[in-house]
Amino acid sequence: MKPLQDLAFIEQSSFEKEDENLLFKQYLQQQNSNEIDSLVYNLNEEISPQIDCTKCGNCCRSLMINVEENDAERLAEHLNISKEDFCKKYIETSSEGNLSVMNKIPCHFLSQNKCTVYEARPHECREFPGLHQPNFNARLFATFMHYSRCPIIYNVIEMLKKELAFGK
Ligand code: SF4
Ligand code: SF4
Repeated sequence: MKPLQDLAFIEQSSFEKEDENLLFKQYLQQQNSNEIDSLVYNLNEEISPQIDCTKCGNCCRSLMINVEENDAERLAEHLNISKEDFCKKYIETSSEGNLSVMNKIPCHFLSQNKCTVYEARPHECREFPGLHQPNFNARLFATFMHYSRCPIIYNVIEMLKKELAFGK
């Protein structure tokens, strides 16, 4: 079955599935975490290539992006400006100085659903939505926080429910 990519439908469906997802998270926590990792990894491998992120761009439109020191250096070099100028123009740093984020949502570098700095994009952008990583069960809160936003997450979770015969 082709994965769903209609953002309005996914948002509405997420709202309707709120209670179901609460139960599903509790259910997942009781399962073998290595088996869940393997199922999620395989579903992600199957679904991700079928989703066209350039028709979505929802993460880039709605997330606050962390920018690490080496991200800032790489992006500045890519844009051919100094790191100081890059940070002044694009970055906001917490008053404690320990957290730097892109200072605009949607992201400065999103244009027509495409990343204009793709080769130099921050580490966090490369990793999102993170379903290839181990310890899925340890990241349920963050993953489900993006369930209504990211079609990859939405479809992987819905397929995972089917594979596990959840609710049957
Ligand atoms: S840097 Fe690129 S991938 Fe990251 S949020 Fe901005 S547009 Fe999206
Ligand atoms: S990662 Fe998810 S939210 Fe981001 S563009 Fe791709 S499908 Fe959309």
